[in-house]
Amino acid sequence: MIVMKFGGTSVAGNEAISRTIDIIGSKIEKQPVVVVSAMSGVTDLLYLIADKAAAKDHKAAMELLAQLRNRHIDVADELLDGNAGLMLPAVSSVNEICDELEQFVIAVCALGELSERSKAMIVSNGELLSSTIISYAMNARGIKTSWVDARKMMITEGELMKGEPQEGRICELVPIVVGDAFQGHQAVITQGFIASDVSGVTSVLGRGGSDYTASLIGMALGAEAIEIWTDVDGVLTADPRMVPTAKKLDVISFEEAAEMAHFGAKVLHPLTIEPAVRQNIPIYVLNSMKPSGSGTLIIEEAGTEDSVKSVSFKKDILVINIFSTKMIDASGFLSKVFDIFSRNNVSVDLISTTEANISVTCDHAPKNIEKVTRELSEFADVVMDEGKSQISVIGKNLVNIDGLMQNILGALQGKKLYMISQGASYINISVVVDSEALPEAVNGIHKSLFE
Ligand code: ADP
Ligand code: ASP
Ligand code: MG
Repeated sequence: MIVMKFGGTSVAGNEAISRTIDIIGSKIEKQPVVVVSAMSGVTDLLYLIADKAAAKDHKAAMELLAQLRNRHIDVADELLDGNAGLMLPAVSSVNEICDELEQFVIAVCALGELSERSKAMIVSNGELLSSTIISYAMNARGIKTSWVDARKMMITEGELMKGEPQEGRICELVPIVVGDAFQGHQAVITQGFIASDVSGVTSVLGRGGSDYTASLIGMALGAEAIEIWTDVDGVLTADPRMVPTAKKLDVISFEEAAEMAHFGAKVLHPLTIEPAVRQNIPIYVLNSMKPSGSGTLIIEEAGTEDSVKSVSFKKDILVINIFSTKMIDASGFLSKVFDIFSRNNVSVDLISTTEANISVTCDHAPKNIEKVTRELSEFADVVMDEGKSQISVIGKNLVNIDGLMQNILGALQGKKLYMISQGASYINISVVVDSEALPEAVNGIHKSLFE
């Protein structure tokens, strides 16, 4: 079996879906388990609908819901044109999902209160809609396809808007659910992002979570490969929207890919790699608009060479400076500080320390940050520094690359550097600069390392 995940732009409308179905059709002998995202822009629209409902803005919520419904009905109409036998049930399935959502949104509007539970119920509908339409279209094109509700097998715990997958349960359930669905069928289609908590309440895996769904399913099935089909040629040396000269990487290691995703490369959800590593399943990142391209292969480290692979960045992070003279010669100070971050679930990216000072970076405005500051302020002076961005040069055994640090620093001449950090694993060298300096800094480093 293979898992094929198609992102928002790969399922954005009639043309994109038709191309996607051709790609699936070309791999039918591999027993594809297809994981789809919502059509591009739809999840953002659903977040907006949730916000409008919470603000009791009934009129705006209904207008947006009508947009959502019309867009999906139009796509179903176009895709299934000439096949009334499938078009009518497809359109009525779309209407059913939209009707149910509308009732739900009306109730939220009346209350004007949006719980995490209600929010997850609303924002997860994009994947239900896209997978339903694509399932009908695959059948219309002669691929016998079975539609599976991902909530039967993607079980999470913890927060409903950022569920933590229960890998044990998922590994038990996926082979059974998918195995059953293949009976009499050539392909199985399910949704990314949406899941269910242990008590059956709808949850989601966080933004961009469809990649993660695909790798969890791949792990649970012991799949031959996990294919992430997207709108760029593969994993590139930098975000092409920031660096137009970014180049495709042919092969990178699991570790490099995970590091790139954690440090800002949006092409993969940061947790995608972990499940694949556990079963040593190769991941391919491929362009659904150019299916004949070779894409990027992500495999275990042994197969890749020592070199710089990418310049990633995180825009507008938060730098927290923690200063206390109590830190000098005191043991246990660091653990006290990081215990506060850990108890409040705030994840830290970079750390640098001196005798009386610790600087850390984390995402812009993480949840609970006020609590963290309050607790730290009980024994230290805390200064938050905004308007900064983090650039990370990522690759294998960076320590072996002659003159690398000089090249990076040379490209940053004339810019203020607020932090510099190189981990002992030599996979990442990161610097913190002013956000205004970010585009020039990223392009300068990219130029000196890759062009
Ligand atoms: P999908 O909807 O297919 O999941 P995403 O928008 O989530 O697609 O991810 C693909 C996008 O990631 C690309 O269009 C590109 O702009 C961006 N991106 C950021 N960093 C990189 C990188 N290093 N390599 C490739 N794409 C990147
Ligand atoms: N549709 C979800 C999002 O936009 C999940 C995904 O596309 O991966 O975040
Ligand atoms: Mg994505």
